[in-house]
Amino acid sequence: MTLPHDDELMAFAPEPIGKGDGADDTSDKTWRILLVDDDCEVHQATLLALKNEVIEGRPLEFLHAYSSAEAREVLVAKQGIAVILLDVVMDSPDAGLRLVRVIREELGMAEVRIILRTGQPGYAPEMRVIRDYDINDYKSKAELTYTRLVTTLITAIRSFEQLRVINISRLGLGMIVRSAAELFAHRALGDFAEGVLTQIAAMLGLAPEGLICAHIANHADGVVIPENKLVVVGAAGRYRDQISQPLDGMVDKRIVETINLCVAQQKNIYGPNETVLFVRNASGQAAAVFLDSNRVLSSTDRQLLEVFCVNIAVGFENVELFRDLSFFAYNDPLCRLPNRTRLVEIIDQQLQEGCRDTVLCAADIDHFSSINDALGHRNGDLLLRAVAERLRQNLGSDVVLARVAGDSFAMLGEARLIDPVSIIALFDQPFQIEEHSLSVRVTIGQAMISEVDGGGIDVLKCANIALNRAKLDQRGSYYTYTRAMASETRERLTLLHDLRAAMKAEVLQVFYQPKVELASGRIVGAEALLRWKYHNGTFISPDVIVSLAEYSGLIFDLGEWVMRSACRQARTWLNEGHTDFCIAINVSMNQFRSPDFIGSVQACIDDIGIPPSAIELEITETIAMLEVDVVIDALQALKKIGVKIAIDDFGTGFSSLSYLHRLPIDTLKIDRAFIKDLSPETAGTSDSQSGPTIAEMILNLGEGLGLALVAEGVETEFHVSYLRALGCDYAQGYYYAKPLDAHAFAVWRDDYLARLPRA
Ligand code: C2E
Ligand code: MG
Ligand code: MG
Repeated sequence: MTLPHDDELMAFAPEPIGKGDGADDTSDKTWRILLVDDDCEVHQATLLALKNEVIEGRPLEFLHAYSSAEAREVLVAKQGIAVILLDVVMDSPDAGLRLVRVIREELGMAEVRIILRTGQPGYAPEMRVIRDYDINDYKSKAELTYTRLVTTLITAIRSFEQLRVINISRLGLGMIVRSAAELFAHRALGDFAEGVLTQIAAMLGLAPEGLICAHIANHADGVVIPENKLVVVGAAGRYRDQISQPLDGMVDKRIVETINLCVAQQKNIYGPNETVLFVRNASGQAAAVFLDSNRVLSSTDRQLLEVFCVNIAVGFENVELFRDLSFFAYNDPLCRLPNRTRLVEIIDQQLQEGCRDTVLCAADIDHFSSINDALGHRNGDLLLRAVAERLRQNLGSDVVLARVAGDSFAMLGEARLIDPVSIIALFDQPFQIEEHSLSVRVTIGQAMISEVDGGGIDVLKCANIALNRAKLDQRGSYYTYTRAMASETRERLTLLHDLRAAMKAEVLQVFYQPKVELASGRIVGAEALLRWKYHNGTFISPDVIVSLAEYSGLIFDLGEWVMRSACRQARTWLNEGHTDFCIAINVSMNQFRSPDFIGSVQACIDDIGIPPSAIELEITETIAMLEVDVVIDALQALKKIGVKIAIDDFGTGFSSLSYLHRLPIDTLKIDRAFIKDLSPETAGTSDSQSGPTIAEMILNLGEGLGLALVAEGVETEFHVSYLRALGCDYAQGYYYAKPLDAHAFAVWRDDYLARLPRA
């Protein structure tokens, strides 16, 4: 079909036309075409031919320039020019070509399409210019019939629009990438939300006026909001004061409705005055971004926003992750209580506020790990929760309850509200955990914050010092921190430090105290006793060393070292001809309980080559009474190796005599407490008025069980004769010799043997 103008040269319109000036930016409603020609008639003719054209749904809008200089001005002043119809020959033969260079290079306008027109068909443009400066078309004016002009224009406009979209997208994507990095740095929901609004507004060239709503169950400030209610989690511009408010409470119902609609439909809404974006993160949480916009967004803008929404969703997750992390940093999720870090913060706060009458009470569940091991971690967890619940209910809301470690809780409040005796009494009733009725006790250490120098962490430390003291003394009791306690603890730590150094420097020693057969006076062995000569020249009691070593875990190395030293010494004496010599070695609680203990005894025997029967291990009554079955198993394993076993300090550990016969042991050592008071007055004979002595009863018991009996702390001639008369087998004590180092022991022994009447 041909149009009326088809193939006719364009007629020139009569009226003069001004140059394009001052019009508003309408570039998104029309296609802006700049006509550059020094011939007025060309302007008029073009206008006449094209003024009613509509391309891709938009009319054309013409801007006019009559020289290169004017064209430059228009290009600088006007936005969004799509096509330039440019005359090549104006004030100079190549004025148009020069202008092309200015447009592309100087003004950096890459999107605008250029159609060169020349009135002189013979004048060929430089090919290089056409190639290098991205010129769409080059036509002589005579060639440009109406049809050709329109088709050239349509092609140019399409090409312009595609380039523009690509460039916007490129810029937008760049912005998304940059803004995503920026958004991910925000860790608080409010900051993040504001960041989102600012970035979207910048991307669309709008003012940042908007808000973000989300379903947040537990808002950061701890305000609990029902799951199904949307809350404003961030806002910018005039919506700022809506932050943290429920959406429903907003006065502007239009906003409430559009946001609710967006969330209900789970779709973005692009209205003439607002844009509402729907965001959902991987955990299913929904949010909506509302932004004031004065126009319906173009499809390019929408596409960009949709890409951006994915980033927002990821960012939301990030924020939530941080929220969770910071929750876990300050709370114990199991018992839903503040944790140690949070408690320290609270104490610091109270110290700052000048509270002096506050007390911190640390309560440790006794033997919790055994309950955990016996009943499993699930029941252990349930017990902890039940303990937390009982404490919470009884302490009331004015006391801060925290869980500061696996099995320890702390209570902080006014002294009148926290009474350790009543807290301990709360544990009189057992806890019902599934089918188990569990009786547990707590041990408590408390510190008045006024007694402590320093901050929250120091207050907690002091309560723990008191707690440790209570544990060492008696479980189920409580201690209150005093400054003296702190210095004792420091001394203990110094001693521990020195003990470590002493072990390393091999300055510890083993002394030997002889054991004598009462009937014959024969030396049957010796007990190995640990000695540590401190740098001030005094000896530190082995009781102190052992308790320090037990407390710090050094006991395993220390015990092994004593055992090996003693066995090596015994091996030497056996080699020297002192046959029938048995070395007694003390074993501590933790050493005995260590799963490696039995193996270490065997290894010692193998390495040193000592007959196992030449070793007697002394365990205290307290160890023997621990967990009967476990102890029996361990003792049986030791008996299998061939070593002998003695119960040390017998009579002090409140042993249950009823199962003594079940223990595979060889010897009872009567504690020296029962020997020291024996005198001709107190002991007399068994048929004296005073009745049998404890020593005598133990001797009878041991005899009945077929055990060898050793009396410790034998100091006098009377002890010897009395014990011998009662049938006690062996004696050990100062009467014969104090514990001596190996050399002194050998000297003593040779002297003793020389004096011993031959049998
Ligand atoms: P124990 O095993 O009952 O050792 C006997 C303690 O009684 C020794 O004290 C010894 O010096 C002391 N003693 C011996 N005869 C007499 C006497 O006639 N009168 C008086 N008053 N005391 C006497 P020591 O050496 O101070 O050891 C104390 C405790 O330390 C030991 O009691 C033992 O339980 C522990 N111990 C010592 N060495 C070791 C060791 O190497 N490992 C372990 N686990 N514990 C050790
Ligand atoms: Mg002993
Ligand atoms: Mg003893």
